[in-house]
Amino acid sequence: MRRTPRGAITRCDACGTAFTPAPVEEPRAGGGVILQFSCPSCGAIYPVAAITGQGLTMRARLQQMARMGQAGKPPYRHLMARYERQVTRLSPPAQPAQPSTQAEQPGAASGS
Ligand SMILES: [Zn+2]
Repeated sequence: MRRTPRGAITRCDACGTAFTPAPVEEPRAGGGVILQFSCPSCGAIYPVAAITGQGLTMRARLQQMARMGQAGKPPYRHLMARYERQVTRLSPPAQPAQPSTQAEQPGAASGS
C-alpha cells in the first residue's frame, strides 16, 4: 500500500497559498484526536481524520510492533484492520490533502 510521498504540496482553498501540510493532532472532547493541518498564510484549518482514544492506543501498539520488525505479519495486520475502524477520514470540501495523480497530462504539443 503506497501513500503520498512526504512533502506533498497542497493548496489552500481560502487564499491559494501552496504549502506542505504538517498535520497536527488536536485533542477532542470525549477522547481521541482530530488530525488536521492549517494554512501557514491565512490559518484556514483542514481536518484530515478523527482518531478515537482507542485508536491512539492501537496506533501506539502498531508502532511498537513495527519497531520490533513485526510490520506486515498477521497480528500486525489484524490490529491495523481494527485500528482503521477507529479512524474516520474527514474530507474537506476540496480535499486538499488528497494526492493529485498527475497522470493525465494532455501532452502539450510543441511546434506545429
Ligand atoms: Zn490560506
